Amino acid sequence: VSEGLYLGMDFGTSGARYALIDKEGNIHAEGKREYPLHMSKETVDWVQSWKVTLFLLLEDVPVSLRPFVASISLDGTSATTLIVDSSTGEPLSRPFLYSESCPDALPLVKSIAPVNHTVCSGSSTLCKLVSWWNSDNSNKESAALLHQADWLLWLLHGNLGVSDYNNALKVGYDPEIDSYPPWLLSQPFSHVLPSVRAPGTSIGFIKEDIRTRFGFPENCLVCAGTTDSIAAFLAARATQPGKAVTSLGSTLAIKLLSINRIEDARFGVYSHRLDDKWLVGGASNTGGAVLRQIFTDEQLEKLSEHINPMEASPLDYYPLQSVGERFPVADPKMVPRLHPRPESDVEYLHGILESIARIEAKGYSLLKDLGATEAEQVFTAGGGAKNEKWTKIRERVLGLPVCRAPQTEAAYGAALLALRGAQ
Ligand code: ADP
Repeated sequence: VSEGLYLGMDFGTSGARYALIDKEGNIHAEGKREYPLHMSKETVDWVQSWKVTLFLLLEDVPVSLRPFVASISLDGTSATTLIVDSSTGEPLSRPFLYSESCPDALPLVKSIAPVNHTVCSGSSTLCKLVSWWNSDNSNKESAALLHQADWLLWLLHGNLGVSDYNNALKVGYDPEIDSYPPWLLSQPFSHVLPSVRAPGTSIGFIKEDIRTRFGFPENCLVCAGTTDSIAAFLAARATQPGKAVTSLGSTLAIKLLSINRIEDARFGVYSHRLDDKWLVGGASNTGGAVLRQIFTDEQLEKLSEHINPMEASPLDYYPLQSVGERFPVADPKMVPRLHPRPESDVEYLHGILESIARIEAKGYSLLKDLGATEAEQVFTAGGGAKNEKWTKIRERVLGLPVCRAPQTEAAYGAALLALRGAQ
């Protein structure tokens, strides 16, 4: 190696990964760490655990490659929130995890935010902030709010109070006007909100002590990050409007790059800004988890071999793990439909795969109806991406070219952000 390398890290739900790439996007090193369970007072000390993992990942980067790391960026789970002391960066309470809900804050949040705004959900960052503000007695004047990614990046650059407009969306930041809206700035807690940068913009040089401890170069930059699901989208390098990524994991999630911003709280549809475009998305409750209830992964592979993907299955199911669907149909009472079950398991699986593909197609057409750019090409991520028969079925049902995404790791997407910050 003689030229620059770019380091991305992903702090996901169960562990963290890193990817080190060059400017062509080739991977030079990658690795993974589970979060060690640091305990304090009988609860998991997540902040300590993330911090330890950050430095473990830096140690995992091969010593010989560290002098070439031109820039670093990272992503964290969306809406994972820390309230810290604005001068020391020390947490003033335990962190609020991404999935945690603070329904106590909803009445106030709903009274200040526009109807159906993204913050009007109990797990939004703003609800977490309001819940802390209303219950905690520690020094509110010196408090600062940071998202998980902001806090981990701060450990590297030392500039407290910086975030990015993807992480800041759920606290109420408006990426369209590039500012917090007036209804938020007029609140008594507005001084705790971080300043916001575009993901991938450089925040500053890596701190001297960390630089020398690990052997990173003198001008190594630390760049604004993003959320884990956006980093996973970035990994697919779908940079043109109309390019989309479907994640076929336990659930089905679709993301589409659009010229227009669309929002519809009924379907849980909202848009993240990506430069001058919008990343619109929706998530259905159908997906691989239902498959796993019926078939093992080995059975899925064997049975799929016998499916003729060119033939449409007449079976019409709505595979769900439990009652309720949000996207592309908003119906909290929707009942799972997996009957009649034919005698042949091949036909049964064909019917389920075809039905999930129909839900995916309906998802893309709903996004179009809501005003998004029409999908042109679909990349696939997640466990379902390896099923080539399913890919063929989906191509036929969607009427679009479908292929496996070459890269799906969020850490790779974060490395692309680091690359862009260094340019
Ligand atoms: P998670 O969302 O839990 O991270 P993964 O991306 O690891 O999920 O994907 C796991 C899912 O992929 C499982 O629910 C499983 O049913 C599904 N899956 C695994 N192998 C296949 C296959 N050959 N065809 C279709 N689906 C599969």
